[in-house]
Amino acid sequence: MQSDQTLKSESHPEVDSAWQTYKRLLVYVRPLWLIFLVSFIGFAIYGAGQALSAKWLEMVVDTVQRNDYDQRWFLAAAVMGIFILRGLGAFIGNYSIAYVGREVIHRLRTQVFERLLLLPSHYYSHKSSGELLAKLTYNVEQVTEAVTNAIKVLFREGLTVAGLLGYMFYLNWKLTLIFIAAGPLIGLVVSMAAKRMRKLSRRIQKSVGDITESASESIKGYQVVRIFGGAEAERGRFEQASLHNKRQFMKLVVTQSLNTPIIQLLVALALSALLFLAMHPDVMGSMSTGGFVAFLTAAGMITKPLRLLTDITSIVQKGIAAAESLFEVLDEPVEQDSGSRTLERIGDIEFRHLHFAYPGTDKEVLQDICLSLPQGRSVALVGRSGSGKTTMASLLPRFNDGWTGELLVNGEPLESFTLDSLRSQISLVNQNVVLFNGTIAENIAYGAMAGASETAILAAAEAAHVTEFVERLPQGIHTRVGENGVLLSGGQRQRIAIARAILKDAPILILDEATSALDSESERHIQDALEEVMRGRTTLVIAHRLSTIEKADIIVVMEDGRIIEQGSHSELLEQQGAYSKFHILQTDTE
Ligand code: ADP
Repeated sequence: MQSDQTLKSESHPEVDSAWQTYKRLLVYVRPLWLIFLVSFIGFAIYGAGQALSAKWLEMVVDTVQRNDYDQRWFLAAAVMGIFILRGLGAFIGNYSIAYVGREVIHRLRTQVFERLLLLPSHYYSHKSSGELLAKLTYNVEQVTEAVTNAIKVLFREGLTVAGLLGYMFYLNWKLTLIFIAAGPLIGLVVSMAAKRMRKLSRRIQKSVGDITESASESIKGYQVVRIFGGAEAERGRFEQASLHNKRQFMKLVVTQSLNTPIIQLLVALALSALLFLAMHPDVMGSMSTGGFVAFLTAAGMITKPLRLLTDITSIVQKGIAAAESLFEVLDEPVEQDSGSRTLERIGDIEFRHLHFAYPGTDKEVLQDICLSLPQGRSVALVGRSGSGKTTMASLLPRFNDGWTGELLVNGEPLESFTLDSLRSQISLVNQNVVLFNGTIAENIAYGAMAGASETAILAAAEAAHVTEFVERLPQGIHTRVGENGVLLSGGQRQRIAIARAILKDAPILILDEATSALDSESERHIQDALEEVMRGRTTLVIAHRLSTIEKADIIVVMEDGRIIEQGSHSELLEQQGAYSKFHILQTDTE
């Protein structure tokens, strides 16, 4: 699985797509062009300072040679001036480019997160949360590096090189041409290294995803890990992921570290050719001693910024690889929301010869579903695990899309209404209750209900039997729940979820009944709370408890994606079919 994915991510049409990605990244920089310009000016001042220091050297040597010390005040002051100029330039340049970088990251990160909020549910079923978290944390930071550091170095060192080269040209253009003849060779080395670094960076990002995934699973599932003796295997898996990360990093370091000395060697070669040829009268021309010394100094000074410039490739390659993975998320198609009409009030719901297969699969998990949900009635879905109950319930809020046949509300196709207006009419109580970090009150009045009055929240809490246990808590309804509600029992969490649904007061309720057994006290509270929330609402319940099933207006028995029986409890018992067998079985166990 892992090597599969690595292979897939490496088969990109290389250079073109890298350039496309970089161009796309620069789109984020465009609105910040003014700050960018300030940064450029800052680094231009810095670069000019470097060239000026070579010029200063020329003047000092020539002054000493002429034994003419009149200029000593000026030369001494010039040193201070040059350093102040350089420092100021570097500060302005650094600050502005860092601002641009952090801003780009902030925009990119929030964009990716916003995209995640819009992606269809099948995206989540195919991606691990670890991988997505790594994208938002690690990969985004890699992009910053590419945007800030790379451009900073490009500006600062690029302008320094330009300044020094310009000065060298001014001193002696022939010598300078000899010096830059090494350029194409350097370019070749840099581009070869770049390709390899991008490949390695992709692998590193993937491995960071694996590390986060492995860690978050072990943390969330720590009890299962310990009871089922999974520690050894988890340790192995984590170590493997971390080791893979280390190896890829070391390969990157090797490429990076070879890159620099090879380039330095090429520069040294150019320097030695320079020195040899410079001693020739034709080339030397009419340079003063000071000019000659300054020329060699400038050529020597160029090596450091040149090396830093070639280092950019690795940063840029990492950034490009990271940006690719982020743009991948941004390019994912969002949930289909083609409906244009606002659904005012949901009435009757009808499934007509509906078939459904999950995207990317051919197996129809729902086949020829025909079912009416009259307004205000409750429908219980029963059947073995895997028979399609959850899938069926997921169609109403359009968590899954792409069915054939018809799903009608108020006699109109469900797809003709906007997702927002549809979902605003639906309440949901899941088996696995997700509580957000905040108080119990905030969890009840979640999302669009955030402005609800204290009285309304308390009323919902009362109706859902939340008040019973909340009264004993130190700050009552304003007690904070731990992350994912760890301080509360399963039954208590479920009652909070029911209170949330009561407060929403939507005409449709989808209820995934908990399968886990609760103590009879909790059970009674939950049962009462459920009756409260179901009253007057169209309810689709994935039912496991006999009491819920018996009380439902319509019972739908499912098997292998088909409805095999439907009717009221007494009707189905009379038929003596699958339901009556199931009922006998259930009665026995309960
Ligand atoms: P139930 O709720 O009755 O246990 P489900 O609706 O969860 O049944 O599952 C019905 C079928 O759909 C099962 O065969 C299951 O493997 C398949 N299935 C569920 N979720 C997905 C998914 N995201 N992608 C592909 N197949 C799925």
